[in-house]
Amino acid sequence: MDCKTAQKWSDRYLYGELPTDILPEYLAHIRTCEHCMENLRTDYSLTRAIDQINRNEDFSTDYTRELEGKLERSRQTILRHIRIQVFKRAVVFGLIAVIAVFLATRLPAQEKYFLPEGREESLQLRFYGIDESADPVKETIRRYNDEAIRRLRDNTRNEDGK
Ligand SMILES: [Zn+2]
Repeated sequence: MDCKTAQKWSDRYLYGELPTDILPEYLAHIRTCEHCMENLRTDYSLTRAIDQINRNEDFSTDYTRELEGKLERSRQTILRHIRIQVFKRAVVFGLIAVIAVFLATRLPAQEKYFLPEGREESLQLRFYGIDESADPVKETIRRYNDEAIRRLRDNTRNEDGK
């Protein structure tokens, strides 16, 4: 951040309008650039003095200390912001881990299907959360299963008809 940009942000900072994502870079510049710090002190004093006149308040005698307090609160805001972001990431990571463990530990379902030859066979299917319609193996089995059931029904009907 150059001094010109910092000066522009100073105005917004004084009115509490500086976005939180710009705040760290701005404060870092202010801390290291005596020129901008001095400008901020002057602007802060003027802003506060005008504010106090408008509100008919007594003049504060120590604007520098007030500004230090404001800068310290901003630093705390940044720290809080970082902590919240770390926490959010931890929550997302935790959720992904829980979902991964849940999917990995699901027991393979034991399902029975009729095969086209009319023989009953037991197949073991692993199901890792894939939607049934999107699983080509299950889709194929289901298609043949329907066919087998239809043939079995036809056979039963024919036998009943005899
Ligand atoms: Zn500067």
